[in-house]
Amino acid sequence: MSIFDKFAPIADVRRRIAATGVDPLGVPIDQILSATEAMVRGKRTILAGSNNYLGLTFDAACVDAGADAVRREGTGTTGSRMANGSYAGHLALERELAEFYGVGQAIVFSTGYQANLGMLSALAGPRDVVMLDADCHASIYDGVKLGGAETLRFRHNDAADLDKRLRRLGERATDALVVVEGIYSMLGDRAPLAALCEVAHRHGALIYVDEAHSLGICGETGSGVAEADGVLDQVDFIVGTFSKSLGAAGGYCVSRHDALDVVRYASRPYIFTASPVPSVIASTRAALARLRAAPQLREQLWRNAHRLHDALVAQDFRLGAEPGPVVAAMFDTPEQALTFWQGLLDHGVYVNLMLPPATPNGWCLVRCSLSAAHSDAQIDHLIASFSALKDDAGQRPPVERFHA
Ligand code: PMP
Repeated sequence: MSIFDKFAPIADVRRRIAATGVDPLGVPIDQILSATEAMVRGKRTILAGSNNYLGLTFDAACVDAGADAVRREGTGTTGSRMANGSYAGHLALERELAEFYGVGQAIVFSTGYQANLGMLSALAGPRDVVMLDADCHASIYDGVKLGGAETLRFRHNDAADLDKRLRRLGERATDALVVVEGIYSMLGDRAPLAALCEVAHRHGALIYVDEAHSLGICGETGSGVAEADGVLDQVDFIVGTFSKSLGAAGGYCVSRHDALDVVRYASRPYIFTASPVPSVIASTRAALARLRAAPQLREQLWRNAHRLHDALVAQDFRLGAEPGPVVAAMFDTPEQALTFWQGLLDHGVYVNLMLPPATPNGWCLVRCSLSAAHSDAQIDHLIASFSALKDDAGQRPPVERFHA
C-alpha cells in the first residue's frame, strides 16, 4: 500500500497516451515569438488556444510598464497583502477596477483561481446555500467546497430550473448565493444573465458572475456580459482574471456592496499567500487602460471570431455556441478529437484538446480561442487547416447544433 496507489488510473491513462506518440497535455513552447506565434517542436506555430483575447501580452505599453516596475520595485513583494505585501500599485489597481465597473469596492487576488477560491470560501460558510450553474469552472466548485456551504446545482443556463430550485428552498432562498459565468470557457456559450438576475433577485438571493472569458470582450466599455445585458447594477459580485484579456496573471472581485472590503479579512486564499508581484500589477494596470482606450481591439476580436465561426459552420463542423471568442468543434470520440488536434498541430496550429471529465456532458472538444492580434492570414490558415483535416476527422454531420 502506497500513498501513490490512488494515482494508478491516471498513470494508466498517461501510459496509453504516451503509447500513441501524441501528448496533448503541456506541449512545450520552446520560444514564444508574439501574442499569436511560438516555436513548438522546432516549428513556427500559430497560437489559437491561448485565451489572449486582446493580444496584449506583447503590447508595448504593457511590456514597458512591467519592465519599469521590476526595476523600480523589484521582482516580488515577498509577502501577503495582510503583512508586508500591500504596495501602492495594488491599491491603485483596486481603485481602477472599482471605477471601471462604477462600484465602490474591489479586491485583487494573486490568480483568477484564487479570486473564486477566496471569495466563495469567505462568502459562503456551512450555514449558507450556493446555487451553481452545473457548468461552472473548477475554481468555483473548489471555492464553495473550501467554505463548506451546501451546494446545489441547476441546469446549465436554465433560468426556469434555477427558479424551480430556489422555490424548493423556501425561506432559505433569501440567503442563497447564485453563481454563474458570463461566457463559459469550454464551449464559449453565454449566460442569459438578465433572466438569471431576475430569478435570483425575485427570490431574494444574491448573484455572483465570473467574467473570466468576457472581460474586454462584451459590453460597451468591455467590462463583460453583465454590462452587455444591461444588468451591471443588479449583479452583486463580479469576479474576473488578469490572465486572459489582460495578458498577465491575477484575479479580482468587484461589488456594489461596500461590505466587500471586509471579506478580504476573512478570505484565507487572500491572506495566506504572497501578493501579486509589482511587474504583474503594473502590466495589468497598463492592459486595463488599453482595454478601456482601445475598443477597436474587441471589435477586431469579434471580426476574427465571426470569420472562423462562419467558415467552420459552412463546412458543417459542429460548434459549441454562437460566434464568440471561443470556437469549440465537437467530436464523437476522444480518439477523433485527439487525431484532429494533432493534425492541426502538424499544420502549425496549436489549439486546446478538451476531453471528459474536464468538459461538460462528456464532450470531446477541439477548442480555439481567438485574439484581436490574429491577422487575416492567420485566420485563413486556421480555416484552411480545419478544412484539410475534415475528411478523416470523423465529425458526423451536424445532427444537432447546441446553442446557448
Ligand atoms: N474562472 C474561469 C471561468 C476560468 O476559465 C479560469 C481559467 N481558465 C479561472 C477562473 C482561473 O483563472 P486563472 O487562470 O487566472 O487563475
